[in-house]
Amino acid sequence: METTREHELREAGLRVTRPRLAVLGVLADHPHADADTIVTAAREQHPSLSPQAVYGVLKAFVGAGIARRIEPAGAPALFELRVGDNHHHLVCRSCGAIADVDCVVGASPCLKPSDAAGFVVDEAEVVFWGMCRDCQVEAAAESVQIEERHLNEEHDMIEEHDIREGARA
Ligand SMILES: [Zn+2]
Ligand SMILES: [Zn+2]
Ligand SMILES: [Zn+2]
Repeated sequence: METTREHELREAGLRVTRPRLAVLGVLADHPHADADTIVTAAREQHPSLSPQAVYGVLKAFVGAGIARRIEPAGAPALFELRVGDNHHHLVCRSCGAIADVDCVVGASPCLKPSDAAGFVVDEAEVVFWGMCRDCQVEAAAESVQIEERHLNEEHDMIEEHDIREGARA
């Protein structure tokens, strides 16, 4: 009996191999993982797999269209199995957390350049940068601490002032 994953590989025109099945499983469990994370996870299940073999599989998957490679600026390339829907990503500037967000428009390309300069455009890259919920909470806690420290300093300064005033009187 053919499993869903074997079927997926055949549908994409790829031969079913153990490394490919392993990497497919890792991608399903770790959306938006970088190559190193995928290598580590794949080798946990199949210690005989070389990093090169995993890189090769990733390349084949992207080429066959069953995986998508995304490259947020300043981060290593990330891989995911959600393909073909032109979705975008929310990326946290602080911790690098990443989340899927549906395309505002739908089918790709979602942006029509005012002048394509003769190019045939097949993709528009849209990344939403910001701060994830966890980092917002952390930043809020930090600013409260800074505010408190500030108030304490101000308080000390006022006291010092009062003491000096008192000495003069
Ligand atoms: Zn974050
Ligand atoms: Zn995604
Ligand atoms: Zn879009």
